[in-house]
Amino acid sequence: MTDIKSDRKKFSIAVIQGDGIGPEVIGETRAIADAAASKEGALLEWVDYPFGASYYLRTGDILPESAIREMGKHDAMLLGAIGDPSVKPGILEQGILLKLRFVFDQYVNLRPAVSFPNVPVPVPSPEKMDSVVIRENTEDIYMGLGDISTDGTLDSSMDIDRGGYSLRGSLNLTITPGMGFAAQVALNTRHGVERIARYACDTARRRGEDLVTIVTKSNAVPALYGFFEDTAKRIIESEYPDLKWSAVNVDALCYHLVRRPAAYGVLLCPNLFGDIVSDLQAGLAGGLGTAAGGNIGDGLSMFEPVHGSAPDIAGTGRANPIAAVLSGALLLRHLGLDGAAIGVEGAVRRYLETAPERARPFEFGGSASCGQVGEAIIKNI
Ligand code: ATP
Repeated sequence: MTDIKSDRKKFSIAVIQGDGIGPEVIGETRAIADAAASKEGALLEWVDYPFGASYYLRTGDILPESAIREMGKHDAMLLGAIGDPSVKPGILEQGILLKLRFVFDQYVNLRPAVSFPNVPVPVPSPEKMDSVVIRENTEDIYMGLGDISTDGTLDSSMDIDRGGYSLRGSLNLTITPGMGFAAQVALNTRHGVERIARYACDTARRRGEDLVTIVTKSNAVPALYGFFEDTAKRIIESEYPDLKWSAVNVDALCYHLVRRPAAYGVLLCPNLFGDIVSDLQAGLAGGLGTAAGGNIGDGLSMFEPVHGSAPDIAGTGRANPIAAVLSGALLLRHLGLDGAAIGVEGAVRRYLETAPERARPFEFGGSASCGQVGEAIIKNI
């Protein structure tokens, strides 16, 4: 388990507020997390880093190595949003988000999907969603080995060192008659699957559940996803005798989710399926407004709302801070401040339940500004 469990009461948190609405939603998140932590007798020390579009445009630098080394000394990171229309898409995402994920080997992408009161949902259901996608965050089809060929020959090589292994080799393919084609290699390792399976099991235990659902496609892609499924099952059976597993094909899962959004608890996913299923779940739970996330590893873990920088509403006060606030709750839980995390989640729930319609965020049909939403949540802690 990667969480920082100790009797410590003082924590240092790196913050990248980022671009667009990032600073607005992070401002509220900090205030709310501070209030909840202080109720538990804990102190959060926030250390700001200026990275994002405006820093890049000002300095030409994206994320200096010295800053990465410094960030690694903090207990966790909170990130608002990165991206601005004036910067070519991909530069900052790769240079900051993907870089941090890679450097700190953040192998878990944690994406809860929870129903909150008065949040419109596309599939009304009498049952409330309380599910979490545990997505493997480093392997599968995202390894980066592959290319596009225009003439029928392809030669793509890889030479990387990861925390748990090194991978070297190449993919050489020829197609006759020569024509354009593309190939990309997907890979799941024992190292990669075992650690994500353990994280999923620990999460199930913490939630008081006895089932981990393995999301697979072992019938059609038996090597890649059969291996993922079998490796995960072995970990659950051998190391978590109190837990059960079930395996569901990703296509069937999507079908069941749309018909019964609240049917699942902990969903353990390979990288590609986790990417897709977590967005489906977020949509079913009410969209970007409450979608929180974390990228977790044994070093620095990073918590951020799923939404982007929303430049169209930046500075207007219309930003809804709730997804960032719930990401802050994930961060608190990661620090071992479970009481504070429950405090924040409960306060969000109470606020949404009791606030009259006009006092809800614009996104949920109200007219409360980002700051007013933040203040109302604090009052509910
Ligand atoms: P990115 O590429 O950074 O994800 P994007 O524009 O594709 O950027 P978002 O920034 O998530 O995606 O915005 C999508 C839409 O949702 C926009 O219209 C935006 O205004 C709205 N939106 C996103 N986040 C929020 C929020 N916290 N509060 C209110 N509206 C939001």
